Amino acid sequence: MKRPTILVLGAGYGGLSTVVNLQKILGSNDADIILVNKNDYHYESTWLHEASAGTLSPEQVRYDVSSVINTDKVTFVKATVDSIDVNTKKVGTSAGEYTYDYLVIGLGFEGETFGIPGLDKYALSIANVKAARHIREHIEYQFATWSTEEEKDDSRLTLVVGGAGFSGIEFLGELGNRIPVLCKEYDVPQEKVRVVCVEAAPMVLPGFDPELVKYAVGQLEAKGIEFSIGTPVVEATPEGVKIKKGEEEFEFIKAGTIVWAAGVRGNRLIESSGIENMRARVKVEKDMRAPGFPDVFIVGDCALMINEEANRPYPPTAQIAMQQAVTVAKNIAALMTDKETEEFVPSLKGTVCSLGEHDAIGDVMGKKLTGTPASIMKKVIDNRALYMIGGIPLVVKKGKFSL
Ligand code: FAD
Ligand code: NAD
Repeated sequence: MKRPTILVLGAGYGGLSTVVNLQKILGSNDADIILVNKNDYHYESTWLHEASAGTLSPEQVRYDVSSVINTDKVTFVKATVDSIDVNTKKVGTSAGEYTYDYLVIGLGFEGETFGIPGLDKYALSIANVKAARHIREHIEYQFATWSTEEEKDDSRLTLVVGGAGFSGIEFLGELGNRIPVLCKEYDVPQEKVRVVCVEAAPMVLPGFDPELVKYAVGQLEAKGIEFSIGTPVVEATPEGVKIKKGEEEFEFIKAGTIVWAAGVRGNRLIESSGIENMRARVKVEKDMRAPGFPDVFIVGDCALMINEEANRPYPPTAQIAMQQAVTVAKNIAALMTDKETEEFVPSLKGTVCSLGEHDAIGDVMGKKLTGTPASIMKKVIDNRALYMIGGIPLVVKKGKFSL
């Protein structure tokens, strides 16, 4: 009998973990496992705010896919997926067309701009390693240019961060540490630099524990970061952003750097795949399959799952993506042997939000943490993600150990 082909798209937390779990469960002759990813490396998207601010090198946030896959069991294809058609079972890529017996879509997130004019063009988004490198270099360029200008344009030194969700706050935490270093390096007086976080909702980190939020805001304000709360960004231009301050009241913030961190959606390829979706996220069945397509699984940020207790979707996180991958791998193995698939049940351990290398806030298994204990917990979580995919060698190579 022909071996089934398992085609996995994306080597992010969801796709790569699915492959690592499949290679543990299946023997070399059980299936042809093909992993397609745009780059020959995986990046820790949960560390991209550090690479974007320049507090961590882009090299440190990525590792070769080949270092964690068993090439006896998995064929890795470095290619960009261009199209997915689940009705004809065809996946178009820059390396040719693929078909499958089982498909796993793990193509991750894209920044959501909600159609706000100018954002696509004038704002930078913490989306992947290349984008992170661009943000870091853009900020440095503004500092370098300011210091050589005859007639100085101080707005070059204003950075606007759109969104005070977890990505925005973690990025601000890194900027808080990075700005003094840049000021020294480029001979810029620190009082010339402005970092403004603009949030649409009436609070920072909407929905998170208010006591922890208060701590985070206090720590960031102490580093000179300003907050404009309840004031949505309504437009971006080459000169800065327009924010809405009241019914008919607007303010324009002139800024040399705009970083948009105000939400994510699923990968746009989902929208033309033939699978029903909402903003490129698929409301999956309980066993992680796409509705109506029993041979297609969705993992990670492209999957949408409702937390029935809270009556809203689970947030798209790496924590959930990696847990889903375990279920997806088990369920593919079950289908291959005509067994029942199992339901995905998330096991949420809590959330830790970093505020720079040595500070953080966390709500972990009902316990509130701040400062060093929270920061240590964040590093434990980061190292655990490495361990789950590449074991101890990967933790030794890429882990975070400084306290
Ligand atoms: P991704 O990690 O986005 O991976 C998708 C993969 O698909 C990538 O390798 C990409 O290159 C590849 N790909 C995309 N398009 C194509 C294509 N067309 N062809 C081929 N390959 C393609 N979550 C947490 O749980 N904890 C955190 O602390 C945390 N911190 C975060 C910090 C930041 C700054 C950000 C932005 C997110 C953070 N998240 C965190 C969320 C977390 O990163 C995502 O939920 C997670 O990355 C989703 O995993 P994924 O596998 O679905 O997608
Ligand atoms: P998010 O959706 O969690 O937050 C986006 C923020 O932007 C919200 O507070 C929203 O009110 C605000 N916003 C929306 N429109 C706006 C506008 N026009 N102007 C100003 N503000 C606006 O998105 P995120 O922070 O990118 O996070 C994405 C996912 O990644 C989430 O699931 C999050 O939990 C996860 N994440 C987790 C961590 C962590 O666990 N440490 C870190 C980063 C991201």
